[in-house]
Amino acid sequence: MDSVKRLWKDLTPEAQTAWLAAHGEPAYRLKQIREWLWVRRAVTFTEMSNLPVAMRIALDAEFAAFSLNVLDTQKAGDGTRKFLFGLVDGTTVEGVLVPAPRRNTVCVSTQVGCPVRCVFCASGRGGFVRNLTPSEIADQVLFACRELGERVNNVVVMGMGEPLLNLDNLLVALEIIGDPAGLGLGARHVTISTSGIVPGIRRLAEQEKQWNLALSLHATDDEARAQIIPEGHRFPLEEVLAACRDYREKAGRMVTLEYALIRGMNDSSQEIQRLGAIAKDLRAKVNLIPCNRIGGKLVPPDRAEVRRISDQLDRLGVQVSVRKEMGADIDAACGQLRSRYETKPGAIPAAEE
Ligand code: SAH
Ligand code: SF4
Repeated sequence: MDSVKRLWKDLTPEAQTAWLAAHGEPAYRLKQIREWLWVRRAVTFTEMSNLPVAMRIALDAEFAAFSLNVLDTQKAGDGTRKFLFGLVDGTTVEGVLVPAPRRNTVCVSTQVGCPVRCVFCASGRGGFVRNLTPSEIADQVLFACRELGERVNNVVVMGMGEPLLNLDNLLVALEIIGDPAGLGLGARHVTISTSGIVPGIRRLAEQEKQWNLALSLHATDDEARAQIIPEGHRFPLEEVLAACRDYREKAGRMVTLEYALIRGMNDSSQEIQRLGAIAKDLRAKVNLIPCNRIGGKLVPPDRAEVRRISDQLDRLGVQVSVRKEMGADIDAACGQLRSRYETKPGAIPAAEE
């Protein structure tokens, strides 16, 4: 589409400098623009009042200052807000904002769709469309800051997509998110969730940053895991756990094991016993997620059963939490708002695989 504007923030600093030079502007303008974009959270060039008007017009003619366009919003009784963002090419992703005193959390997407296609996940349903660019990822955090009127305290990379299959762009986005001259959020306040992409975990560990790592484990052996995460992007459990151990050692951060509870599939006491053993061996915390229903046969265990599972882990000496059903009255599981939107008449058609 030639009418689509390029995203200024996705240009390398060298390309930005070259553009300024070609337009007869001094190099210090770069710093001014950057401050407008990340510190003053501007979403248009027009509002950058200390830049020459002609330059603002020229920038605006060629580039977009902000990558997201809110198409739909849902607000839950507990304050959770979910956003459907339209991107410059007409594709869509979701973001979730969970406001809480001193601990606002924003959940960001990294891909349009997801190639991993876990059986219970709405994000994978339509398959994979494309990777988000660094600024499309970082802009979701920026958007949350604008919504709140202050800096967010916590970023979880747990929205649509598999972050470690878009690691190059994610790393650039994380740099902006952590940069004091950017969004300024410390690495310890960022959590990256993965379905277990071993080369990605290892590369993440090499960065030696203190990001938190969450592994979507969901099952305690390869056979059971294969029922949940299809062939293609699933790695042998032994290798995944070894990579997580390596991450814990290099980053100096405890790993979290996410375990989506599905009734009759991964919730027997033997499986929970094994989950406990894996967690203890890895010195990891466990986060139980009663699975959200997205249609089909997969349902969560009832509340009493979830309690029993949590108590069983607790008795084994494992640090365990149960994910609160944030925004239970809205389409809270990732990909749900988007899949609903795409069935609305007149909505942007689902992109093809
Ligand atoms: N792709 C990454 C991050 C995005 S998914 C990953 O899989 O970890 C973030 C978390 O939401 C994962 O733990 C995933 O298993 C969980 N999730 C997705 N759909 C869900 C559903 N319907 N019910 C419960 N958890 C779900
Ligand atoms: Fe992709 Fe994560 Fe959903 Fe699996 S759970 S399909 S990896 S987004």
